[in-house]
Amino acid sequence: TIVAPVSRTLPARRVAAPVPVDPAPAGRGPLDVLGVPGQVNLDYAATAPCARAAADAVAELLPWYGSVHRGAGALSRRCTLAYERARQRVGDFLGVRPDDHVIFTRNTTDALNLLARALPSGGKVVTFASEHHANLLPWPVDTVRLPVPGSADAAVRAVDAALRELRRGTDGSAPILVAVTGASNVTGECWPVADLARAAHRHGARFALDAAQLAPHAEVDITALGVDYVAVSGHKLYAPFGVGVLAGRADWLDAAPPYLVGGGATRTVGAATHDVGWADGPGRHEAGTPNLLGAVALAAVCEALTSVDRAALHAREQALLAHLRAGIAAAPDVVELRTFGPDSPRVGIVSFVVAGRDSAQVAAELAGRWQIGLRDGLFCAHPLARRLLAEAAVRSGRADLPPTALRASIGLGSTTQQVDRLLSALATPR
Ligand code: PLP
Repeated sequence: TIVAPVSRTLPARRVAAPVPVDPAPAGRGPLDVLGVPGQVNLDYAATAPCARAAADAVAELLPWYGSVHRGAGALSRRCTLAYERARQRVGDFLGVRPDDHVIFTRNTTDALNLLARALPSGGKVVTFASEHHANLLPWPVDTVRLPVPGSADAAVRAVDAALRELRRGTDGSAPILVAVTGASNVTGECWPVADLARAAHRHGARFALDAAQLAPHAEVDITALGVDYVAVSGHKLYAPFGVGVLAGRADWLDAAPPYLVGGGATRTVGAATHDVGWADGPGRHEAGTPNLLGAVALAAVCEALTSVDRAALHAREQALLAHLRAGIAAAPDVVELRTFGPDSPRVGIVSFVVAGRDSAQVAAELAGRWQIGLRDGLFCAHPLARRLLAEAAVRSGRADLPPTALRASIGLGSTTQQVDRLLSALATPR
């Protein structure tokens, strides 16, 4: 044991030295996650650990390496079939409509950049200043960036008002896209997706959902939600890096120039440089040999998530999240960041600061002394994170909050023991 020094807020006491905490209930189930013994991963929002379903799907396909859409041999035929089956499964998981496209991309950033390129000419975009940079930066310079709203209702009202303004004095036919996250990567708070999509449609606009953080934690059915486009990342969904998806309405995507040009995106190429017939369908935006293993692994996780009781998974995660938030609220000098009210629905993400402590130093200490991995910084959402830090200073009345924050995030393999380790670390004076 080590003797903790007297702190301003806590009496002196003996603190147990950290003992190793195993990553997850190690098992062979498809949704058990792989991890490293002794390392506590509380950074699922950045990249989730790999699920057994993904690892098994990759291992099964490895001996069958063959080209996708480019060969006639048995290996190639199997790979092509596996790729297209993966597309189907991921589309089912996301609840796509029969004539939607499901395009494999590298990640959510790639998917949203592709959608930005497919925006019809003269199209306008409406989004919020609270978005991840991936949903803030790909859009045209005249994008309407709405201020961070104080509540879910205020978000819907703001979109409604912005669209009314954009439509004023026009015939209402210009393409408009409203692009919003489903769950914030900074606070975990859930956005009113169905209501926002309805507001968009009332004004003849389309709605794109950045589901990078929502899809790993909750069912995302774009038909039921009334969403026109959805983007997700494989590496946040317990699958490998390098695969993501853009799914949604086919017309803009088929009318847009290919995202990448090259083999696979073409129907025919003539001798003249301009003589190219581009393919329709997902292939138009998937030039080059695709990431078969990524697609297949992602599809395997989607299938595994579809075949379990997601409500039970959700309830378990929510109980763990409540425990984490309660512990953070009770920890000395710790202030949580939030956009909406304290009780608004959230996924398993909490951002906070330790007053008087540099966040990078706290993160380094958690990693070195406690073997806890979490994220520090402004989380690729600088406008939001800076604003929430300023608000947290006002709410807490503390003048000594650091300029960056810490983020703990949980998911399938997270345990109470792991969360308790973070809470012990936060309660332990330096
Ligand atoms: N959108 C949100 C809400 C995110 O949290 C992230 C990543 O953290 C992204 C988009 C970008 O995801 P990726 O880095 O996988 O492209």
